[in-house]
Amino acid sequence: MIRFENVSVTYDGAAEATVQGVDFEVPEGELVLLVGPSGVGKSTVLGAVSGLVPHFTGGTLRGRVTVAGRDTRTHKPRELADVVGTVGQDPLSHFVTDTVEDELAYGMESLGLAPDVMRRRVEETLDLLGLADLRDRPISTLSGGQQQRVAIGSVLTPHPRVLVLDEPTSALDPAAAEEVLAVLQRLVHDLGTTVLMAEHRLERVVQYADQVALLPSPGAAPVLGTPADIMAV
Ligand code: ADP
Ligand code: ADP
Repeated sequence: MIRFENVSVTYDGAAEATVQGVDFEVPEGELVLLVGPSGVGKSTVLGAVSGLVPHFTGGTLRGRVTVAGRDTRTHKPRELADVVGTVGQDPLSHFVTDTVEDELAYGMESLGLAPDVMRRRVEETLDLLGLADLRDRPISTLSGGQQQRVAIGSVLTPHPRVLVLDEPTSALDPAAAEEVLAVLQRLVHDLGTTVLMAEHRLERVVQYADQVALLPSPGAAPVLGTPADIMAV
């Protein structure tokens, strides 16, 4: 579903590639973790999937990244909204509207869907994420875990086949992190969504993963394996 073909990214002004030798596939309906220490290039790899790299970051992407067959370099991020949903590290910076319900609707606005389809998708997403009771709440009054679920919901209403998340639990306490991870597991198991998620604390999330891609050090090619293989590295 996500295919990296010998991908490297070199930011403008950098002497060396930030990531290189990225060459693997994320199969449909799997949850794959991208792990490695801070600064190793995890966000860069995710950005190449969502199209943020190089469209918004500058730099040069060599090789090819395709999501459901679409080349992310020749499609702008907004042209990929129905294919790949992207949730960044800081949910607050993600929000553009005031209330939960408006935020879930916002992501569909450029898709040209009929109003009744949009309403149905908002309802199904509120239910899926356990947000129905919070629909009219200003997002700023929610807990971190609730906000993270709203951020996920807002990219789910276009029905993307792929979800890309950058350390979605890093700012959350363990209970809120469990809630978010349970949501992701439900997406993968019940809807067949493909998930690529960056995380620097492998222990917290490894039980949810089908496969792990480890970025061991800056510029080094990712090491792929089962969660058990990677835990042993
Ligand atoms: P991680 O997500 O693993 O913490 P990043 O992909 O954010 O790693 O960063 C990897 C390296 O790339 C860092 O040295 C960072 O400073 C650099 N970097 C990230 N984004 C940019 C950018 N837009 N321009 C230049 N350098 C960047
Ligand atoms: P509509 O366009 O009217 O919403 P769809 O057939 O696209 O109709 O969507 C309805 C179906 O989508 C339901 O069976 C539901 O299970 C499924 N669905 C719900 N959420 C998602 C999602 N995030 N991604 C893909 N499919 C979803």
